[in-house]
Amino acid sequence: MQDRLKELQTEAINLIDAATDLKALNDVRVAYLGKKGPITEVLRGMGKLSEEERPKMGALVNEVREVIASKIAGKQNELEAAVINAKLASEQIDVTLPGRPVRTGNHHPLTRIIEEIEDLFIGMGYSVAEGPEVEKDYYNFEALNLPKGHPARDMQDSFYISEEILLRTHTSPVQARTMENNQGKGPIKIICPGKVYRRDNDDATHSHQFMQIEGLVIGENIRMSDLKGTLEVFVKKMFGEDRKIRLRPSFFPFTEPSVELDISCKICGGNGCNVCKGTGWIEILGAGMVHPNVLEMAGYDSKKYSGFAFGMGPERIAMLKYGVDDIRHFYTNDVRFLKQFSVHE
Ligand SMILES: [Zn+2]
Repeated sequence: MQDRLKELQTEAINLIDAATDLKALNDVRVAYLGKKGPITEVLRGMGKLSEEERPKMGALVNEVREVIASKIAGKQNELEAAVINAKLASEQIDVTLPGRPVRTGNHHPLTRIIEEIEDLFIGMGYSVAEGPEVEKDYYNFEALNLPKGHPARDMQDSFYISEEILLRTHTSPVQARTMENNQGKGPIKIICPGKVYRRDNDDATHSHQFMQIEGLVIGENIRMSDLKGTLEVFVKKMFGEDRKIRLRPSFFPFTEPSVELDISCKICGGNGCNVCKGTGWIEILGAGMVHPNVLEMAGYDSKKYSGFAFGMGPERIAMLKYGVDDIRHFYTNDVRFLKQFSVHE
């Protein structure tokens, strides 16, 4: 019986040594130390032994069990450490590897131009005003000296939603609304950026949806020279100190007198080229002194108050500033085009 126990101990130790994972080790534990294992069997056979032999044999069985158990515990620690080490090795991070670049978006070129223009005018004491894109005929036309049936309405082919509601054709209704809110009192100094809509066929210079920025200044003793000075500051800040400006008479129903603003062509320096169509000048915006009818419609006393207004297309400004030759680039959102305006690369 003693020999049998020694044999079992050797067998178990060999199996423990050979175990390569925790499962195999547990199998050895169950096989040798479990209730149905050979050692338990030896214990059962102890009934046949004499009184003197029994305690000796009992002590030996316990000793063998302890040897096997401690051997298993040692092996278990070893295997568990191996598992942890393998895990650590597989999850090792090479901190010297270069990182993947994070792709960032950037502002759309039109947004940038609009923000630049806004900043410029905010610096001159203007505030930014906004209004609805779906507008009443009244604010889009009538309040701006364009009563129903006025021929100049045809200048702006409109998207009507109903008889009295349309998609605004310009940002001027924001001016009309601001003046009306002021109830004919006090000065106004605003710029109004926003989207406008006209029934144009899209081509290199036209889009059915485009942006506008308009400015409006109302006060006492506002003169044409104030308008000219303001536009001159704008042009020099936006396009460079070397640019000259020129005002040409024009017609808009909501201003009188009305002018178009030209800036000297940078490419040819005024000698004439393709961009300026040989004239040396490039048209960039329309402006004028607010028509007395517009002031009166909004409740302002046109004998006391006067003002000027101007309106420009940010697309046109961006096209001139960045040398873009087709307005559709701004709306097709081709990443190759937009990426060129990224400030991150
Ligand atoms: Zn030119």
